[in-house]
Amino acid sequence: MDFIDSQKKIMVIFGTRPEAIKLAPVIHELKTVFKTVVVSTSQHLDLLKPVLNLFEIEVDHELKVMTKNQTPHRVCARSLEKLDKIITAEKPDLILVQGDTTTTLSGALAGFYHRIPVGHIEAGLRSGNIYSPFPEEMNRQLVSKIATYHFAATKGNRDNLLAEGIPTERVFVTGNPIVDALKSFLEKLSPSEKILSLIKETEGKKRVLLTTHRRESFGETMRQNLIVLRDFVAKHKNLCLIFPVHLNPKVKDLTCEVLSGQERVYLLEPLNYGDFIFLMKSSWLIVSDSGGVQEEAPSLGKPVLILRDTTERPEAIQAGVAKLVGGSPQKLKQMLETNYSVETWIKSVKEVANPFGDGRASKRILKILLDEVFQSKKSRASS
Ligand code: UDP
Repeated sequence: MDFIDSQKKIMVIFGTRPEAIKLAPVIHELKTVFKTVVVSTSQHLDLLKPVLNLFEIEVDHELKVMTKNQTPHRVCARSLEKLDKIITAEKPDLILVQGDTTTTLSGALAGFYHRIPVGHIEAGLRSGNIYSPFPEEMNRQLVSKIATYHFAATKGNRDNLLAEGIPTERVFVTGNPIVDALKSFLEKLSPSEKILSLIKETEGKKRVLLTTHRRESFGETMRQNLIVLRDFVAKHKNLCLIFPVHLNPKVKDLTCEVLSGQERVYLLEPLNYGDFIFLMKSSWLIVSDSGGVQEEAPSLGKPVLILRDTTERPEAIQAGVAKLVGGSPQKLKQMLETNYSVETWIKSVKEVANPFGDGRASKRILKILLDEVFQSKKSRASS
């Protein structure tokens, strides 16, 4: 009998595109059993909306915290204040947050202030440098302190948590639900007309797909990286560069300055998930500082140069799919040229068993909530 479970109320809080992509499969699972309250801080409103439409997620509370030129301080303060009211009104039994954004931190902290247990999905990632990624590495460390239940994607993530003294019975290795989301899309990929015509226009070219938006690369590092990529593509006529440009003005302005009007450089608006996955699949090489892209690449068998000095996702490197560029544009230049002249690595990257998950993470999380967190097994046995 599921009577006891279905009375429980779970509040899911997110605010950015990757959180929504990763939480969408979890929300759909939760809704089969629990009262599920979906809260969006809208930390990145414009990037979030298309994901919610695509994954058919209805938001119960929209906090509209986003402001022009927002800072982590502002997002955190505004989210905390607004979450206080929502949590007071909804009185959830559990709060679920995902990842490492400022929304993740404020969602966990708001839960703690209300003495409501918090579950953290994608727990245990560590770069070892609190300033890289910034402020995400500190966000995730703080959320690990606050959370009661830790849903780790990999055994390595679990080990990181255990090394910090988190009790083993509170840590569950579930896989990352991004693989659930990705698998569901790979089954029904239907790219838009716009993307199909881009693919046609670039037929026969080696496509370099770029995403870059990390705060710690803003400024000179990002400018130099873009210059290196521009010159690389200009030098080799059989290359093209495709860049769905992040909406952050710090990325947009630099991109316009360095890349606009260049031959064989395609600057796009942020893409819907299906189109982006299709482009990943159609690319020769991906250059990215995104966490999610590192997690998706193994399932797509695509090589990624990680535009960062550290990664908290060493599994992608161990799987042979990704290489760390480091923070240096010179190193990027050298790695691009080396892998262009000798394609051994690029050609060797094949689809592998995804180290971040098998596509069943959201089902596992639901089962853990039922069997361990709300202990319905016991309730069922005694009912
Ligand atoms: N993504 C997307 N459209 C784009 C670029 C990326 O849907 O134009 C997806 C990508 O497949 C991945 C996620 O967004 O699932 C990554 O988000 P982002 O790079 O913003 O954040 P991060 O992963 O670095 O936290």
